[in-house]
Amino acid sequence: MTAETRNGSTRQGAEHFDVLIVGAGISGIGAAYHLTTECPGTSFVILEAQGSFGGTWLTHRYPGIRSDSDLYTFGYRFKPWTSAPIATAAEILAYLAEVIDENDLGPHIRYRHRISSARWSSTEKRWTLEATRLDSGEAVHITASFLWMCQGYYRHDQGYTPEWEGMKSFKGRIVHPQTWPEDLDYTGKRVVVIGSGATAATLIPAIAEDCGHVVLLQRSPTFYITGRNANQLADTLRELQIDERWIHEIVRRKVLYDQSVFTGRSFTEPETVKQELLAGVRFYLGPDYDVATHFTPSYRPWRQRIAFIPNGDLFQAIGAGKASVVTDEIDRFTENGVLLKSGKLLEADIVVTATGFNLNVLGDIDFTVDGAPLAFSDTVTFHGMMFTGVPNMAWVFGYLRAAWTLRADLVADFVCRLLKHMKNKGVGKVVPTLREEDKDMALLPWIDPQNFNPGYLMRGMHLLPKRGDKPEWQHLQDYWTEKDRLPAIDLDDRALAYE
Ligand SMILES: Cc1cc2nc3c(=O)[nH]c(=O)nc-3n(C[C@H](O)[C@H](O)[C@H](O)COP(=O)(O)OP(=O)(O)OC[C@H]3O[C@@H](n4cnc5c(N)ncnc54)[C@H](O)[C@@H]3O)c2cc1C
Repeated sequence: MTAETRNGSTRQGAEHFDVLIVGAGISGIGAAYHLTTECPGTSFVILEAQGSFGGTWLTHRYPGIRSDSDLYTFGYRFKPWTSAPIATAAEILAYLAEVIDENDLGPHIRYRHRISSARWSSTEKRWTLEATRLDSGEAVHITASFLWMCQGYYRHDQGYTPEWEGMKSFKGRIVHPQTWPEDLDYTGKRVVVIGSGATAATLIPAIAEDCGHVVLLQRSPTFYITGRNANQLADTLRELQIDERWIHEIVRRKVLYDQSVFTGRSFTEPETVKQELLAGVRFYLGPDYDVATHFTPSYRPWRQRIAFIPNGDLFQAIGAGKASVVTDEIDRFTENGVLLKSGKLLEADIVVTATGFNLNVLGDIDFTVDGAPLAFSDTVTFHGMMFTGVPNMAWVFGYLRAAWTLRADLVADFVCRLLKHMKNKGVGKVVPTLREEDKDMALLPWIDPQNFNPGYLMRGMHLLPKRGDKPEWQHLQDYWTEKDRLPAIDLDDRALAYE
């Protein structure tokens, strides 16, 4: 029953689905919702390595874990968000649980299934996936006509920690926020948090009250935006007893509009935007604080994600003397803490490395197409969703500057439209293919580093697909263009070859 066919793909007797979704994070659950509503009758399964749904929001358990996007846009288009805009991981998981229950998605999800390989056979027009059941160690083979990659962009089991000299000699504990130990007792302890991104900015106010003292140690400053964790328009509409579905749609549009104006201004008048952001910091820290050294980045706003600080809680912890900021470089670890290049020693009982992620391209899965190993860095992306030479596969890579899920919804609409188109055409294979006029096109990195350059992407850019400079082959990271462009993709363009 399990003999393999020539060309290494289909396993006879393997269960078959029209669509296989990789990952039960916010993208995978969204994909399943769209399939059930836009392509009823399509058989599908979600394979998820972890023991439950939620992806990022299940993995990260450090104190204070919360979104830094507002949930009116980070939530799905189709499911109203009814609470404060910035949400805890627990609230996001509860929201996802409702989506699963309301749409009966649970029976489609198989947890503790880690996919290790995916083999495409053009003869069979299907993928064969091999997964390991993490509870029993058993190998499972499943075939699928279409692969919907919702595996996110980073490795879930281990965060990124740079190697510093002397780390082994440090007598305290070194912790990465991605694998926060449940038993970590930081009461009264001296804590150094390395990094100044959203994770550090969330974690520090959450632990500051209980720690002896917590230091945010950064090599260079980051922009933050402060504000209330409330949406006035939503509150007003609720007072008027407007239907939650309307509130969701109206507030979403308003948030998106405001964000686009802000993003636009950070390109056209970066200095003014910079001063506005710094004024938000000064509001909490007062005129005597050294904002120039600790909170004034050298880059223009939006080249890196700007973390939202609800009610200025990070700055309040600094103002109260429970937390402080050190802007310096690490020379090495010592037995007692971290020695800085300036010669200063930061004594610590616990060091938290909020230093980012390990990029993982397409779920660390070994892909082959008709027996040939696939290197994604050799492919060119079709609208940041599909890849040249890779049949019947789409990847959800969301927005980095706006909410990820905005794009997950747009990609889902495209995939559902494509699946219906293939059904109507009576074809079983679609593969993005460079057209004659594209052959000399300049190939560019997946993301323009001049535009957006977080560390995990810079470290892994060589592993990612290329983009071109023509509309079909771009990966724009721009919701305002893509919201019109993706629904208008001509599915009969020669850039999509069908069989
Ligand atoms: C702490 C933190 C806060 C964030 N806050 C925001 C925010 O406020 N706004 C925003 O837009 N973005 C935010 N992001 C980015 C965030 O990761 C995405 O927005 C979004 O949650 C990604 O969802 P996803 O479903 O695409 O991927 P993930 O959440 O990464 O989920 C992918 C799932 O796929 C599974 N998987 C991967 N490979 C395999 C495999 N081989 N076999 C089986 N299963 C596999 C994983 O186990 C995981 O459960 C944040 C990220 C982090 C880490």
